[in-house]
Amino acid sequence: MDVSAQRTPQMLFYDNQYLKTSTARVVAARAVDAAVAVLELDQTLFYPEGGGQPADRGTIAGMELLDVQKGEDGAVLHTVRVASDTLPAPGSEVRLELNWAHRFAYMQQHSGQHLLSAMLKRTADAGTVSVRQGSETTTIEVDREQLSADQLGQAVRAANAAIQQNLPITAEWVAHTRINQQELRRPTSITGQVRLVRIQDTDCVACAGVHLSSTGELGVIRLVGSERIRGRLRLQFLIGQRAVEEYLYLGEMASDLVQRFSTPVTQLHQQILQLEEKQLELKQELAALQLAQAETISRRIAANGPGELLQDGDPFPEVARQLGKLASTPRLVLAPATAGLRWAMVLPEGSREDVARFMDGFFAERWKGGGKPPLFQGVVAGVEAADPCVQHALAAFPGPAAAD
Ligand SMILES: [Zn+2]
Repeated sequence: MDVSAQRTPQMLFYDNQYLKTSTARVVAARAVDAAVAVLELDQTLFYPEGGGQPADRGTIAGMELLDVQKGEDGAVLHTVRVASDTLPAPGSEVRLELNWAHRFAYMQQHSGQHLLSAMLKRTADAGTVSVRQGSETTTIEVDREQLSADQLGQAVRAANAAIQQNLPITAEWVAHTRINQQELRRPTSITGQVRLVRIQDTDCVACAGVHLSSTGELGVIRLVGSERIRGRLRLQFLIGQRAVEEYLYLGEMASDLVQRFSTPVTQLHQQILQLEEKQLELKQELAALQLAQAETISRRIAANGPGELLQDGDPFPEVARQLGKLASTPRLVLAPATAGLRWAMVLPEGSREDVARFMDGFFAERWKGGGKPPLFQGVVAGVEAADPCVQHALAAFPGPAAAD
């Protein structure tokens, strides 16, 4: 991050981070193509992407601002969508309007990240390695492989306590020679004028981003996820309005569940755990029933053979598996599937060729599948041939009565 931040053009947000409209003079205007142009201005409201904070949005002379980037020699390049054939001429005055909702959301993300990084350091001695202000969550990666739920809870509670204390967040430009590195949460190697951002006596870092003027504007912070990546812990947070929206959603959901289960909110968690347990039991019961059903069906086919079309809902895979163990003579099982049939054929050792011959003879090129003795399986396109296919199997692989 370029913390020494060139001040040409004049960066109005460094004097007033809450400025939403302004005018500026065009210094240069260059068409990229028929629809896009790049403008340079003598002063700007718009924060160029940097330090993990995305570029501002808004309009310049009514043209939609698509991107703001730092160029060479401290230039700020405003990319706009061009509405007409003529670009504003150099020297002309244009009106700048900031998309405030977008900016404020990222001022919350950025300031919240400073506060969280300070509290993670203070309560868990976890240093911030990298940060990302995403469109949905803000991510902080710390130099620790693991933190307990207690440690994380303490850091988040400390951050929320600092929000309620409404601590001032201030910024000042200081010559690097006058900086007391000990005072910084993270030492800086920047030379020249350095911008120090301070949350009262809670945090101080070198940073060129835009921040809130007090912690109270953060509203609330919530930890929503953590994962271990390359030996580090990556934490995901909802900060500010995003966390408020999440709390409102969770509150509505909890109210709905309280009504549905006729249970106090304090019992909701326990109730859902019990349901989960019950569901697992039911799943196990269902599996046992299917196993018993498959046993009945596969014994019937093994004894009476040679083929059967199962009903929709019959446990086809289990029937095929059990039949593979039971039958010593050829057996064919079919079952309805999406736009076709599933098939399973049980054949003794060395009879791979018979499968292809049988399927080709009846289904031509419409079948797919494979396997090895004793079980071959696959699918056939088109359901209309199910019954004749079983008849065909009867003729091809005579059952026990005919074999005797
Ligand atoms: Zn910052």
